[in-house]
Amino acid sequence: MFTGTSPQPPACPVCPGRGVPLGQLGRLRWYRCRDCGIDFNRRAKASPSPSPQAAGRAS
Ligand SMILES: [Zn+2]
Repeated sequence: MFTGTSPQPPACPVCPGRGVPLGQLGRLRWYRCRDCGIDFNRRAKASPSPSPQAAGRAS
């Protein structure tokens, strides 16, 4: 059950701080840590692309 669609900022890779979303560049989302101030990126969620060939093979 989804309670709202608020994306949680990812945690900083080097400290317990949280990332502030800077923006999306291509398929990467960039964040800046509030605590230590480093920039890091995360892959944006792959949009559900409807592919004609499903992953499951019909045997
Ligand atoms: Zn940090």
